[in-house]
Amino acid sequence: MTSWPGYIEDQLMSISNLGLTLRLILVLTCVSGAYLARLRFSLMVITILFSIAYILAYFNKIIKCKKMISAVKRKMHGSKWTQFQITCIKKISKDTSIYTFNIQYPEGSLHLPLGHHVQVRAMIHGRQTIRYYTPIFPSETTKELQLMVKSYSNGTMSKYLSTLHVGQTVEIRGPFGNPTSDNNQHYPLQKEIETYRKMGKESNSNEETLTQLGIVAGGSGITPVLQVLHEIVTNPYHLENISLIYANETVDDILLKNELDEMAKKHPHFQIHYVLHHPPKGWKGERGYITKRMLQKYLPRYNKQHKLLVCGPLEMDELVLRYSKELGWNKGFQKSRSNDKVFVF
Ligand SMILES: Cc1cc2nc3c(=O)[nH]c(=O)nc-3n(C[C@H](O)[C@H](O)[C@H](O)COP(=O)(O)OP(=O)(O)OC[C@H]3O[C@@H](n4cnc5c(N)ncnc54)[C@H](O)[C@@H]3O)c2cc1C
Repeated sequence: MTSWPGYIEDQLMSISNLGLTLRLILVLTCVSGAYLARLRFSLMVITILFSIAYILAYFNKIIKCKKMISAVKRKMHGSKWTQFQITCIKKISKDTSIYTFNIQYPEGSLHLPLGHHVQVRAMIHGRQTIRYYTPIFPSETTKELQLMVKSYSNGTMSKYLSTLHVGQTVEIRGPFGNPTSDNNQHYPLQKEIETYRKMGKESNSNEETLTQLGIVAGGSGITPVLQVLHEIVTNPYHLENISLIYANETVDDILLKNELDEMAKKHPHFQIHYVLHHPPKGWKGERGYITKRMLQKYLPRYNKQHKLLVCGPLEMDELVLRYSKELGWNKGFQKSRSNDKVFVF
């Protein structure tokens, strides 16, 4: 039998145990309450984060869809013939003019990335005539299209265009890649331009980065070259030197001389060397046809980081391909690929 004091002691013990248990329960309740509150809070934060991510993904999807839809619309529009109005005609030499067109339409404007050209269609003397022309500026952002067209006295489209006035319309569609190149490698410097556009100045140079560019253009062959120059001379690529040899018959045949000279003045890493077959008195530039000596004197030598672009009449292109090979460049071809060391437009 338990003694009286022992009984009291036991009761006191059990009371204190109960107190302890109650306190423990209380603590546990508090802890679990705090834990639950924290869990609830965490769940709330996670839910909010998920909601934000979902909303962002949803908007991103909408934006992507919108972009896709407008790209498809643009593509569809690009493949359709559309009447575009001439807003300006600027005569830049005795037989060449720059025609400016307003290329806006309800879904945007004609998308003309670098290295692409358009088709122009007109009914001339009862016959449907289509010819290719290269915009002198890539118009990914602008609402205007500028075509520089040299008019031939017996040329069908070029002569027809020279009879048009501001306000008249011409059917245009595009863009189209270079019909002579395959694998969708439309333009020279494609890799360089894409890397630059993605990474900007941060794009690191390596042993294959283009540092020097030599260009040989003849007559209206300057048109696609202009597009490239507008992109690379003014943007800070890794290019240290761009040297252009531009050949023409007479001084009046030099297209956009003022603009080219201005570009060279503004950007000292770009130089132009004019060559004239029939130079005027006192002409300080080169004379005759393009020679191997001129290529040697003005253009970069073969090197992994150097490249040549060529655009002129067929005979001039062939000549430059022969000389460049003799000067140690890889053999170039009329049907060039964008990563060829000697690229013919
Ligand atoms: C991808 C591509 C882009 C082009 N971009 C341009 C451009 O931006 N600007 C531009 O002016 N042209 C450009 N051309 C050339 C253009 O497409 C026409 O061929 C040119 O305007 C002549 O067309 P036409 O109808 O007037 O002459 P056609 O009726 O086709 O030819 C009639 C006569 O014109 C003379 N002729 C035509 N072309 C030449 C020539 N190149 N050299 C000497 N005589 C010639 C010849 O005597 C020929 O017999 C480009 C061609 C291609 C393939």
